[in-house]
Amino acid sequence: MKGRYTVARYAKVLVDAVLQADRVLSSGWRLFDYSVPDGLKDQVRPGQMVEVPFGRQTVMGVVAELSEKTEMSPGKVRDIDSLLSESSLLSSKQLQLCSWITRRYLCSAAEAVRLFLPPGLRHTGSAGPPKARRLVVTVDNLEDACEQLGRAVKQRTALVLAYRAGEPLTRKGLAERADCSPSTVDSLVNKGYLEWTEVSLSSRPYGTDCAEQDEEPPNLTRHQASALSDITAGIESQQFVPYLLYGVTGSGKTEVYLRVIDQVLSRGGGAILLVPEISLTPQMVDRVRARLGDTVAVLHSALPERQRRDEWYRLFAGEARVALGPRSAVFAPCDDLGVIILDEEHETSYKQDSSPRYHTREVALKRCQLTKAVTILGSATPSLESFYRARSGRTHISTLPNRIDDRPMPTVELVDMRKEERRQGHKSIFSRRLMDEMKDRLQRGHQVLLFLNQRGYSAFVMCSECGEVVGCHRCNVSMTYHRDARALKCHYCGRTQAPPEVCQNCGGREIFRGGTGTQKVEAAVISSFPGATVERMDTDAVRKRGRRTQIYRAFSRGEVDVLVGTQMIAKGWDIPSVTLVGVIDADIALHFPDFRSAERTFHLVTQVSGRCGRGDDPGQVVVQTRNPDHPALQFAQRGQLHQFYSRELQERKETHYPPFSRLARIIIRGDSEQMVKMWAEEIKRRVQDVQDEHQGSTLEVLGPVSAPIDRLQGQYRWHLFVRSGGLSVMLNHLKETLGGMKRGRDDPRIVLDIDPVQML
Ligand code: ADP
Ligand code: ZN
Repeated sequence: MKGRYTVARYAKVLVDAVLQADRVLSSGWRLFDYSVPDGLKDQVRPGQMVEVPFGRQTVMGVVAELSEKTEMSPGKVRDIDSLLSESSLLSSKQLQLCSWITRRYLCSAAEAVRLFLPPGLRHTGSAGPPKARRLVVTVDNLEDACEQLGRAVKQRTALVLAYRAGEPLTRKGLAERADCSPSTVDSLVNKGYLEWTEVSLSSRPYGTDCAEQDEEPPNLTRHQASALSDITAGIESQQFVPYLLYGVTGSGKTEVYLRVIDQVLSRGGGAILLVPEISLTPQMVDRVRARLGDTVAVLHSALPERQRRDEWYRLFAGEARVALGPRSAVFAPCDDLGVIILDEEHETSYKQDSSPRYHTREVALKRCQLTKAVTILGSATPSLESFYRARSGRTHISTLPNRIDDRPMPTVELVDMRKEERRQGHKSIFSRRLMDEMKDRLQRGHQVLLFLNQRGYSAFVMCSECGEVVGCHRCNVSMTYHRDARALKCHYCGRTQAPPEVCQNCGGREIFRGGTGTQKVEAAVISSFPGATVERMDTDAVRKRGRRTQIYRAFSRGEVDVLVGTQMIAKGWDIPSVTLVGVIDADIALHFPDFRSAERTFHLVTQVSGRCGRGDDPGQVVVQTRNPDHPALQFAQRGQLHQFYSRELQERKETHYPPFSRLARIIIRGDSEQMVKMWAEEIKRRVQDVQDEHQGSTLEVLGPVSAPIDRLQGQYRWHLFVRSGGLSVMLNHLKETLGGMKRGRDDPRIVLDIDPVQML
């Protein structure tokens, strides 16, 4: 396409307008023809942002293609209004990826395009890098100018210094240099020797203060070296090669990533390093910046928008060549991409939970395929999908089987809480085993992590007389008691209410608080070990900005003895003096109505265990459960990942679940349960109709049924699943059947989720 821009008369533009809002499915990749006015003929190019008339509005669009002809009658074609960006914001490869996203996730082109645009760019406005006003010298001959200024010595000095500065200056900056008042500078502007101009801000990279490039890289272990040389082969081939880097916790995967990125940089390429949730991994940011310095741009959703935009433009301009960020960074404007790395590739946060509901792993693989780059999926507990891909030879696999310095893997013990109750005669938060271990570690000055995936104080509140559990009337889930706020909270809609004095159902006065949350665990530690310093890390505790990093830093400096937390503390931490991890209740994930619940439980126990024994002392993990015989726990305890995955794959195969089939989840939600149910059944009927027409296809509809959370934020929810042996068969069916379906303004909303990871 390059080199042909200059003569085109027409542009095909992707228009950022909500089209056909009455449709259940958007129309995907739709281009509209516009003519290029004479004034813009040599400036318009593919990937550029433009403003175009659309109906009676002016909307933003992206030029997808230039063309000599149009199918429309020339009189009807309207002109492009203006250019919003000087250069192309999307390369032709990115436009291809964009178009793939609309087909793969059945979303609209506007939704897909937006993923690629700089932060803060919405519907209109400047699409260029942030601009600032600076002064530049206008004169060609300095001596002549000085002569003209005659006896105005201060002005002369200022002009000479501005000339010598060799860069645009601010008014104040120049006055300071010339040791004159700003009004002297103004005189030079008034006389036309200086002129205001707009320059792009060369922004300071995020977090420069902590970046010191003095970290000496360690010598690679034998396994690291061999993984690196596998991957190097892929990089040198300049082809698309996917790798699974399966390395146990503490095996040094990050070091391999850094070496790979180094190689890519020295070949002149760019790299993207993705992490599940960046605010959970301050350590990763520190480490990468310490090694690679300013060439790293951090695309952090918690940063102020301006700063995020600056980082984006540093990549766009090639000033930075490594993007580090959460899932959205997979769309970063990196040129000559050599590698995309997904750290902890099994994490569910890699799936976007609003439209387009893309999976970062799939997008990364596609982007690398289009640009002939290498993908590295790294994990100590790969997703079953990635593991299966590797086992069937579609992904190379490199293994780091040991921890650094051959540190032993922690010993994992399962404690049967049913037996424990019989012995103690009552329920308690800590088993005897866990108590003893905690006591021992605290005496020795080690650190302890206690993990529980339930925030709040009590998980539910129940009437002892009639058994009625207080639920959120908008969400139909039980409400959690929070002791700090002395209130009941709904974890799905955020609603709070005062705890009832009497049962709403029977008037009973005995209200019982059941189930354990992190606040209760924290309180229990404090009362059992009054001398210990205890902190808690969950969404409630870190609501205040910066609090999360603060707790993390305090813990890593050894200022906290016991840290209680939710999955926030399960990820990527590398703190040497943690020698004990307690899993308070391993069964929470097991009971989810989800075909992945065993896999998640296995991941969780393995990952949490991985947080200990990273220093000189070996680690110990105590897992409390009422299902000690469950295979996920048994295999996790013995560290037998291959055995667990083989068994799990066998089961998925028999029950025909992914990775042996593809799923789409269709959620129908609305104010009237009657309507929601009717639509759910109508959708099922349609999808089945198509199945009959295309005989021999493997399409299957499961449901509809009411969703596990059947009421959320006041809306009723039903769902159904479409299951198919092949992805394209399924996508085509859905497009065909739902594509023509129209919904009225008050009809239920339909959400389509391809490859769902959320089943609630
Ligand atoms: P993983 O991501 O696989 O859990 P990390 O990359 O966090 O493991 O590495 C664990 C620890 O080992 C880190 O403190 C890291 O600095 C250190 N490390 C990594 N590679 C080496 C090496 N080759 N020699 C010495 N220490 C290393
Ligand atoms: Zn609620």
